[in-house]
Amino acid sequence: MGNINILNGKKLAESLYEMQDLCLADDVELRKPKLVVITIGDDDASKVYVRNKKKACEKCNIIFEQKHFSEDEDINIVLDYMKHLNIDRSVDGIMVQLPVPYRFKGIEQAIMPDKDVDGFSTYNLGGTLNNVKHIPACTPNGIMELLHYNDIDLEGKNVVIIGRSNIVGKPLIGMLLERNATVTICHSKTENIKNITANADILIVAIGKPKFINSYYITSKCMCIIDVGMNRDENGELCGDVDFEDIVNYWKMFSTDNIERYITPVPGGVGPMTVYSLVKNVNMIYSEQLY
Ligand code: NAP
Repeated sequence: MGNINILNGKKLAESLYEMQDLCLADDVELRKPKLVVITIGDDDASKVYVRNKKKACEKCNIIFEQKHFSEDEDINIVLDYMKHLNIDRSVDGIMVQLPVPYRFKGIEQAIMPDKDVDGFSTYNLGGTLNNVKHIPACTPNGIMELLHYNDIDLEGKNVVIIGRSNIVGKPLIGMLLERNATVTICHSKTENIKNITANADILIVAIGKPKFINSYYITSKCMCIIDVGMNRDENGELCGDVDFEDIVNYWKMFSTDNIERYITPVPGGVGPMTVYSLVKNVNMIYSEQLY
């Protein structure tokens, strides 16, 4: 009999912090790895994300620094600060917490690729497609690890991604192709999305619309749904882009077909794996230029 398995990213991330020995001993004599997070303007959700990143860094002996700019700051002041971080040898990773006010859109490209811990620079994004050494984007890399550690086979599988952002959908294309999946990507201009999702073995959803994807979009062949979304529902509760309950109830109708099915919860699925990937990237940059 097939089971419905909840992909617990929180638990996996906790075990990976230990397993991969990312955490440096407290008494380490070398300088510690350092991450600088730049925030611009006041985005409520960002405050939560930054707090989670800070907690993860502190747990792993990474120096965490946040530099905040108001939304009416002179853009050249921010760029000057970023230039200074780019050449500061005590700084390993730099990231700009998105979203930023419109005026600052794309400012994260001023981070040099070697310190671009989010993997958003043109170089690092390109690296996911031509397999050169690069810093992988955190959320896509976290998703790949979640699939890997849960033994979810990708070879030859139809993977449908909904959402083509630079931070989720686009880097995932390269990573999934590398693992021999057949990849289709949909976006807001895609016609008849249901015709495409109906053929998915694995569905990855990153659109930013609360509970948008439900059982109407899938068929019984869909065995895995990864929900990247982080939204608030009508009651102010955190929820994903996928209607979790509706999908699980639909899958229950096929409980005798011997297919193991997997779904990520929100919260506790992709989010913690994203933070883990960030910590991993900081440590990777640090260990490659240890001095
Ligand atoms: P984004 O930049 O706004 O991109 C959204 C994508 O969804 C776009 O490609 C858009 O198409 C597409 N889209 C929007 N409505 C659609 C529809 N009705 N049908 C099909 N495609 C549609 O968003 P993002 O930054 O990728 O984030 C997506 C969600 O993931 C958000 O809820 C965000 O908070 C969450 N997120 C979570 C994590 C995490 O760690 N858990 C990390 C990153 C993001 P167009 O390109 O045509 O506009």
